[in-house]
Amino acid sequence: MKESDRIVKIEPPDDGRLKMWIERLKSAYGNLLEVSVIGNSLLGRSICALHMGSGSRRVLYCGGVHGREWITTLLMMYFAEELLHAYREGQRMCEMDVGKLLHSGGLTIIPALNPDGIEIAINGGDCPGLRDYLSADLLKNCRSREFCRRWKSNARGVDINRNFDAGWDEMRSVAMNGGICGPSAGGWTGEYPESEPETRAVVQLCEEVRFRHVMAFHSQGEEIYWNYRGFTPPRAHLMARVLSVSSGYALCQPQSDAAAAGLKDWFMEKYHAPAFTVEIGRGECPIPLGCFRFLYSRLREMLVLGAAI
Ligand SMILES: [Zn+2]
Repeated sequence: MKESDRIVKIEPPDDGRLKMWIERLKSAYGNLLEVSVIGNSLLGRSICALHMGSGSRRVLYCGGVHGREWITTLLMMYFAEELLHAYREGQRMCEMDVGKLLHSGGLTIIPALNPDGIEIAINGGDCPGLRDYLSADLLKNCRSREFCRRWKSNARGVDINRNFDAGWDEMRSVAMNGGICGPSAGGWTGEYPESEPETRAVVQLCEEVRFRHVMAFHSQGEEIYWNYRGFTPPRAHLMARVLSVSSGYALCQPQSDAAAAGLKDWFMEKYHAPAFTVEIGRGECPIPLGCFRFLYSRLREMLVLGAAI
């Protein structure tokens, strides 16, 4: 689709812009798009899910887990709009029949699981309400724009991708051995598994909708992680190879058995179904907006295939 016709622009997806795009997509695509609020962040921002397609064999894409990786939120929204456009116009995308894809299956996209973290990374730490959750030291650090730009956690300083109930105890030991013993810009597991409303929102959604697989988007490294200890289902490797060939991203194994407590790990352990972490882009983090067009053109086919396989 033409860029000038797009609702979703290549701009930083802070909460105001994200909610505006979602409203406009709802108006433009009517009953082709269903939007639900799956929970609220610690600071009360709604966590939205976009549902497309009528089939029961649904797939979940999840972006915006880490604040500074907000380019993944833009990726989710940019892709959602193109998919909806192709669906309405009866067009193919990367040779795939979008109508067929969304009739037999379905795609649910959470563009921003951690809207507070994204807000901190994009607009700084001057958010109302933050002082209710962060220590004086962290609040002081949050006065620095550079510190905020690199923020990954939620508004309590908990890393959502270390808060899931899968190998959480080991992950907490790893964090503590690495000097992360409490709330932090990234890497802290929280006080107990699923302690955070953002984690619980996606857990609850997965309990309600039995997704056939999950793709969690992070940045960066141009890599795809596809296994978790002894819980990796046999078909995950073949699926990961399809994703890898279509994107050119490398397939990776976690560097140690201690890597755990993420969405991918929890989903595989709980449902014995495939889940993938895709680390998009490379270079500096946050990835500059100027890289987005290249990044999208490289990932477009993988995004279509990920919903089809
Ligand atoms: Zn991440």
